[in-house]
Amino acid sequence: MTLPRGFKANAEREAVRLRKELGLTEGDPLSVRNLADHLGVKIVSAESLIDLERLEELERLQAYAFSAATFEIAGRHYVVTNPLRPDGRQASDIAHELSHLLLKHDLSEVRELSGTPFRTCQPEEEEQATAFGGTLMLPRPLLLSAARRGMGPTEIAAACGVSEEMARYRYNTTGVAKQARTRSG
Ligand SMILES: [Zn+2]
Repeated sequence: MTLPRGFKANAEREAVRLRKELGLTEGDPLSVRNLADHLGVKIVSAESLIDLERLEELERLQAYAFSAATFEIAGRHYVVTNPLRPDGRQASDIAHELSHLLLKHDLSEVRELSGTPFRTCQPEEEEQATAFGGTLMLPRPLLLSAARRGMGPTEIAAACGVSEEMARYRYNTTGVAKQARTRSG
């Protein structure tokens, strides 16, 4: 699957624009929970809605079935997170969910999973939310400055509080490692 024309450049611009609104520079790490606040989205741990035991049971039955989900209730958006995931993974999941909202994806398609309603997305919208979320958390200027300081995906993930999977995806698809080598040479 390919992203629409201009999608990546637009995501980079949005990442910088939102940082400005939050009083951050383009190279600053972003707290995804501050971003959610800024967008008027409430983050809720699934633990406050369902027993932790049921979440653990769901995880046993189908590992990674539930990462995060977005609901609209009485005009307000809620992102429900999975407390069983490490913090960095939760941050990346929240960024993915906020991206669905920022990209104005249709949230109306809901299905049930173990009695809990979940939204299903179009595959292309899933890809877009992942790409957009990764860009929001790790825009190019931030990655390039990290790469110039010799940081790799593992260090970047730790420094920015995101999943290593997200850091690796951004590090590899933006070509910043190569650019950092070229400029410093
Ligand atoms: Zn999604």
